Amino acid sequence: MKRSAEVVIIGGGISGCSIAYHLAAKGVKDIVVIEKAYLTSGATGRCGAGVRQQWGTPMNCDLAKRSVDFFEHATEILQYDGDIQFKQEGYLVVASSKEEDALFKENAALQNKYGIPTQHLSKEDALKIVPYLNIDEVTSANFCPTDGHLNPFTTTDAFYHAAKRLGVTFYTYTTVLDIETKHQRIEAVVTDKGTIATRTVVNAAGGWAQVIGQMVGVDIPVYSENHEILVTEPVERMLSPMVISFSKNIYCQQTPHGPFIMGRSDPNMPKGLSMHSTWGFLEAMAKTATSLLPPLKDIRVLRQWGGLYNMSPDHQPILSGVDTLPGFYIACGFSGHGFMLAPMTGILISEMILNETPTVPLEPLSMERFKHPHRIVKEKSVV
Ligand SMILES: Cc1cc2nc3c(=O)[nH]c(=O)nc-3n(C[C@H](O)[C@H](O)[C@H](O)COP(=O)(O)OP(=O)(O)OC[C@H]3O[C@@H](n4cnc5c(N)ncnc54)[C@H](O)[C@@H]3O)c2cc1C
Repeated sequence: MKRSAEVVIIGGGISGCSIAYHLAAKGVKDIVVIEKAYLTSGATGRCGAGVRQQWGTPMNCDLAKRSVDFFEHATEILQYDGDIQFKQEGYLVVASSKEEDALFKENAALQNKYGIPTQHLSKEDALKIVPYLNIDEVTSANFCPTDGHLNPFTTTDAFYHAAKRLGVTFYTYTTVLDIETKHQRIEAVVTDKGTIATRTVVNAAGGWAQVIGQMVGVDIPVYSENHEILVTEPVERMLSPMVISFSKNIYCQQTPHGPFIMGRSDPNMPKGLSMHSTWGFLEAMAKTATSLLPPLKDIRVLRQWGGLYNMSPDHQPILSGVDTLPGFYIACGFSGHGFMLAPMTGILISEMILNETPTVPLEPLSMERFKHPHRIVKEKSVV
């Protein structure tokens, strides 16, 4: 193992790999990524991998739109010879009440300001996009044709290979045990395979980010919770866009090879690091999915699993340095949408480390924002 590095990134998910690539692309030498299992073993390899620009806060809209712009050219930018499978067949976000109708009109107007081509549709027009939709459950919908879905494994692999070509070192099956500091400066990262001296550490540890923060006495205001998801047997293509409903608590899509992937949140799920699967999820998921998309009743479930959402108080990411500990950077709190934002995560954290002018204003993403609760804008468009 190396004895020193300019930057040590903790976490080999999509965020860690994107940060490593963007730093290396800007000329930083001697970057190390440390991952306690295999790359994508955290939330990245367990996620729905949906890519949505239909958000309710200006910051999430901006980050998502810029990330989609990146994904559209990712194969060329990252010189990837695999396939990240970016399927841009849209997200149909269904409304089921007058309140949601009104909110969705507002959201569409906000998204349009950021160049996101969302349209507010009548339920009849929504039916033209998804003919299998149970119209009795829907009052209207928003549709953005450039939203979509990626393969989380090959997308992470694309960042990984690009970073590796630029000289980044990856240590998998290596656990960070501690971070040594002296006089409020980082000195070294201690792992189960050795110690690496460094002045700069990025905490991209996803659901475990709070644990990494505790190693240096930084209390990151996030918590983790298990979110379950399932995949069905492959069937003939019958659904192009992702169908999602906030009030009905469901996202559901058919991937290019035919299986459906769907998930929902359990409001009673305790906070913590468990990633278990439950029978209760299967029952609730089946009920919601078949009430919104009735033909799904004849499709068999193949597999279910859980993964961690790392939740921030306003459901927006924390991409931030820390006043009390220069050289310590945080990329967590994605609240269930960090996969789709990974390009901007890499861009913004690399700009912070290199003291460059940020592509977007950083205050709404900073740790500082939580000191001023009146400034916090909560994202409501989450499942
Ligand atoms: C069921 C589910 C569905 C989701 N659907 C979507 C979606 O459709 N679209 C979307 O954008 N997002 C989605 N998300 C959220 C998304 O998966 C995450 O926001 C994103 O993957 C976060 O990536 P990350 O790299 O920050 O974290 P992770 O992928 O969790 O990576 C963090 C890594 O850090 C490693 N690590 C932790 N502690 C240590 C340590 N001490 N030493 C070394 N390594 C360590 C972990 O092993 C892990 O691999 C979903 C999440 C879940 C659970």
